[in-house]
Amino acid sequence: MDLKKEAKKRKIKYFLICYVDFFGVVRSKLVPAQVIDQMQKEGAGFAGFSTYLDMSPADADMASIPDPSSLIQLPWKPEVGWLAGDLWMNGEPVKSSPRVMLRNQIEKLKKKNMNLKSGVECEYFLISPDGNSIADERDQASKPCYDQSALMRQYDLISEICDAMIKLGWGPYQNDHEDANGQFEMNWDFSNCLQTADRHVFFKFMVKSLAEQKGLRATFMPKPFENKTGNGCHAHLSVWDKNGKNLFLDKKDKLGLSKTAYKFMGGIMHSAEALTAWFNPTVNSYKRINAPVTDSGATWSPNTITYSDNNRTHMIRVPGSGRFELRLMDGATNPYLLQAGIIAAGIDGIENNRNPGKPSFLNMYAEAHKAKSAKKLPKNLETALSHLSKSKVMNKAFSKETINSYVKLRSLDIKDFKKSKDSKKKGITEWEKLNTLDC
Ligand SMILES: [Mg+2]
Repeated sequence: MDLKKEAKKRKIKYFLICYVDFFGVVRSKLVPAQVIDQMQKEGAGFAGFSTYLDMSPADADMASIPDPSSLIQLPWKPEVGWLAGDLWMNGEPVKSSPRVMLRNQIEKLKKKNMNLKSGVECEYFLISPDGNSIADERDQASKPCYDQSALMRQYDLISEICDAMIKLGWGPYQNDHEDANGQFEMNWDFSNCLQTADRHVFFKFMVKSLAEQKGLRATFMPKPFENKTGNGCHAHLSVWDKNGKNLFLDKKDKLGLSKTAYKFMGGIMHSAEALTAWFNPTVNSYKRINAPVTDSGATWSPNTITYSDNNRTHMIRVPGSGRFELRLMDGATNPYLLQAGIIAAGIDGIENNRNPGKPSFLNMYAEAHKAKSAKKLPKNLETALSHLSKSKVMNKAFSKETINSYVKLRSLDIKDFKKSKDSKKKGITEWEKLNTLDC
C-alpha cells in the first residue's frame, strides 16, 4: 500500500507512527502526510533510551517503520491515520521490541504451517478524572454484572466506541457492564494474532481518548479498587493451517480439542509462572490474581495453573470445541508480548509433547485446597520475574539478552515502588495509581 496515495484518497493530513515499548506504552510521532512516502521507507526516528527498552543513550537512533496494513483512521479525527510500526536499528529489526518479538514467533509457527488466531476481552473501568472513584455514583449494586441501567447511563460513550469499531470493520458483537461497579467490556471478532494485537493497542487508546472527551477517565489497571473485581484481559485461542483448517478442533474429543490443542495448552501451563511476568506485569497485578473474594462474590481471576471445561474458576477454560480461553492476563499486559508469549509457550508444547494432564472440574474459588497437585501462580512480580529469568523456554524463544532487559526494567519498577512511602500500606497505594492507572 502506497501511504501517500492512501492519504490523498482518504483525506488524511497527519499520520501517527507508533511503536510499543516493553511496558506497553505507545510512543508516537505525528508526521504530516506530505512526507509519508519517505517515512514509509525509512521510518520515524526515536531515541531508544528514552523509553522502556533497556537501551543506552549511546545507542544509535531507532526507526519505527510503519506497517501499512495496520492503518486505522482515528474514528473521532479521521484526518489522522494511525500506524503500528516495527523498530529497526542499524539496518536490522530490533529483536527486543515487542512487535518484532511477536513477528518472529509468528514466523516460527508459520514454519510448522500454523498460525495463531486470537480474540481479546479487554475490561476497563470508567472513573473520575482524579482516579479516586468510579464515574457513575449511582452504579452501586452489589451484583452489578450486566446491569442494564448502569450500562445505558454510559450509552453515549459505549455506542460511540462500538460505532467506531463497526466503521473500522472489526466486527464488534457485544458490550456489557462487567462484574465490578464502573466496569465494562466490549467484544469484537477474533482474527490473526498480529491484527488482534494492533487492534488491542488501538482499542485502549480509543477508549481512553473518547472517555476523556466526555470528561471521564478510562482505566485498564489490573486492580484499581481493592474490594472490586479487577480488569482481566482474557484471550481466546485457536491455531489454523494455511488452508483455513482449525488444527485445535477434534469433534470426537470430550472437550472438542485436538492433540495439537492439548500440547499447545500443555506448553502454556508449563511456562505459566514465567509468562505471568508478561501477562501480569505490574506490582498492582498481584492484587488481582490470588486476591480475596470481592464485593460481587468472586474475583474471576485464577490462582492455580489448571484447566477445565466451561468453568471460569480455572486459568484455562474450554468454552466450546476448537478453541480455549486463557484467563491469566490482566489489563496491563503488553498486547504484543501477550500473543508472542502464547506462541512461544505453545510451540514448546508442540515440540516437547507437553501434557496438560486431566482437566479439573473443581470450583477453584471454593475448593482449591482439594487440588493438591496443582501449581500455584506467582504471588508477586518479583517471583514472576525470577521464573521468567530462569525459563529455558522463554530464553530460547526470545534470547537471554531480551529476557534480561525486561527483567531488569521491571525490577527497577519494583525498587521504585519499595522506595515509595506507602509501599508497606495495605490496599491499593498512591504509587500504584500513579504508575498504573493509565497502563
Ligand atoms: Mg469479562
